[in-house]
Amino acid sequence: MCEALWSESERILPGRDEISRVAETLEDSDPREILLWAIDVYGEDLTLSGSFGNPEGMVLLDMLSRITDRVQVFTIDTGFLFDETVRFREEAMDLYRLPLEVVGTRLSIEEQVEMYGPGMRTCSPDICCQVRKVEPQKKFLEAYEAWMTGIRRGQTADRADTPVVGWDEFFEVAKISPLVSWTSEQVEGYAREHNVPMNPLLKMGYRSIGCAPQTRPVQEGEDARAGRWDGMEKTECGIHVANGKVSRA
Ligand code: SF4
Repeated sequence: MCEALWSESERILPGRDEISRVAETLEDSDPREILLWAIDVYGEDLTLSGSFGNPEGMVLLDMLSRITDRVQVFTIDTGFLFDETVRFREEAMDLYRLPLEVVGTRLSIEEQVEMYGPGMRTCSPDICCQVRKVEPQKKFLEAYEAWMTGIRRGQTADRADTPVVGWDEFFEVAKISPLVSWTSEQVEGYAREHNVPMNPLLKMGYRSIGCAPQTRPVQEGEDARAGRWDGMEKTECGIHVANGKVSRA
């Protein structure tokens, strides 16, 4: 563990203009160097999100745990997750021993159905994602200055321009994406080399795992995210899109 990175003296956080310059500097850096930079600059004001569904998040969790056991990890539990994901989350955090906060929503599914209608029981995308993902994350991030995620540019067209670090206007934090320039092969290679545990659904044909009602396994040759919101225009839950708005193809 690299505890020397945790300075008790007051931190001077980079301003928005400086963040753009830092992004250029870090563009060709290895993800581990980006993690070290993020921990050094933000310390206890840094948090890592993970869905416990996708390889990228697990690889980042593994990398982080080799540097420190102090960065707060959080995950959004929509109440619609696969049982496998919830069980795997517990097993994984027994292994990694970083602090985890499971962030829930203000509404139960029943209250949501009562408020917005029966479609909300089976995944009615826009409002449901807003209530169960975007709003809880916004509230959680109020206590932090920087948020790290496992997203990659190669995952979707919406993510193609993601900087290594940028200012997130909606969540009002710096958003750091250490794996942004990695390919899926690099992620898989790291996971193999370091024996990173993975959600068991990934062995059952799922390649991008979100809420159970709108996630299906994909066929050989299909895009990894083709099984998310299949048949809908929706491609993102709104967490990784500017201004927290749900992205449409
Ligand atoms: S993915 Fe579906 S079930 Fe999950 S929060 Fe969004 S709309 Fe609701």
